[in-house]
Amino acid sequence: MIIFTHHTGEPHSILGAQVAATFFQRRLSIPSIVVGIERNFSKERILGFINDYYTGKEKVVAFSHLCGRKDIIGLVQELREKGFITILGGPQARQDYHGEPDTDSYAHRFRGLKSVFDLAFQGPVDRLGPEHLGMRGLLLEYPWTKNIFLEVDWSNLYTFSDTPKKLDVRLGQVLNAVGCPYASNLQVVTLPPPVNLRERGVPELNVRSEGCIFCDVSRDKGYHGSVDRDRVMTQIAGLPNVDGRKIPFELIDEYPIRHLGKLLEDAERHKIRLSQIDLVCRVDDINAHASDLTEILTLAQKQDVKIMFASIGFESFCDRLLQYFCKGITVADIVKCVETLRRLKDRFGSNLLYRRDEGANHGFIRPTPWDDSETLQEIDRNIFLHRFFEDILPEHSTPLIIHHASYLGDWIRQIESRTGITFGRDGTWIEWWNPVLQ
Ligand code: SF4
Repeated sequence: MIIFTHHTGEPHSILGAQVAATFFQRRLSIPSIVVGIERNFSKERILGFINDYYTGKEKVVAFSHLCGRKDIIGLVQELREKGFITILGGPQARQDYHGEPDTDSYAHRFRGLKSVFDLAFQGPVDRLGPEHLGMRGLLLEYPWTKNIFLEVDWSNLYTFSDTPKKLDVRLGQVLNAVGCPYASNLQVVTLPPPVNLRERGVPELNVRSEGCIFCDVSRDKGYHGSVDRDRVMTQIAGLPNVDGRKIPFELIDEYPIRHLGKLLEDAERHKIRLSQIDLVCRVDDINAHASDLTEILTLAQKQDVKIMFASIGFESFCDRLLQYFCKGITVADIVKCVETLRRLKDRFGSNLLYRRDEGANHGFIRPTPWDDSETLQEIDRNIFLHRFFEDILPEHSTPLIIHHASYLGDWIRQIESRTGITFGRDGTWIEWWNPVLQ
């Protein structure tokens, strides 16, 4: 079986799909690979490749991590017409299968992918059995737990642009937490109307959010605890080696620092030589453990391991926008965090990476629906005052993306039902900048 996913073509792993293919192969005896589809892929050639691959095999094909790509959905449609059974798994499978609520009354809303997928699967892959793979017209849903199947065949990943290429993974992933701990954080925030609709009678609305308000991942999965230490070490031990050391890997956990020192100690005890650990980490984790970081980095330096703060979700440098995002941090917290990193960088040099020119890419969301002269001035002033342009500001900001299944999607639907104003849809995304006034 092939599991297709979105892929950038960079040599990074795609953990969920690779674990799923490994499960099918090792536990269900279904030979399986993952094929990451690059943007601008040749449809004609991929159809030829699929045709060759499936000769003499059962025509069941899976998709995961679609990333809102309409070209991939078009491919699913075509395969279904050719008689394949199509399965949707991975993040947002449930929400993308069902689509938005009330599409009968709101015809412009995303109607879901029920018409192109025979089966959607939400939850850990190890709950799937061979009997499920031929089912049609339903969503199977199983709860997440922290004891999920986590074996990875690191040689099962290919990319496809105009021909399949086996990918030599150079950045792996290791699961340390199932879901995001911050997703347990329930808040209700009052959101003003988008700036361009202020004069249109759109009211302030209360929106409920668990975790960050724009995050579809946390809403989809929630939080189910930390993976046991020995299972984390087993994952690390299974990573490919290059020049006698494990390839760099991303530790999947938004609050990773409390585990980091122990992880380094355990690696040393098991004689596992690491090269680099990438952290996708929240500001409050860095601030809460600023004093522990000195000890952790001393250990990393001793082992000649690099610790990279690869992606810190700063998201904005304006307190009002941070509050609308339900980020749970302030600009003062961000300043404290950046000062900590700069101080540690002076001491630990190449063992600590966090800068843009070292490969880090931190979150900065702009534009947003609430940008006005006040927020823009505050952001620019803070960037200048705290010299964020020197090290942490990414080359490009990212526009606010509203996935239909995020809590911001609920906000947009509330505006639509209260005012009659509708917003454009582009696949699974809501075009907040594109209101249609009645
Ligand atoms: S954006 Fe990051 S920190 Fe916020 S809820 Fe999502 S995963 Fe968690």
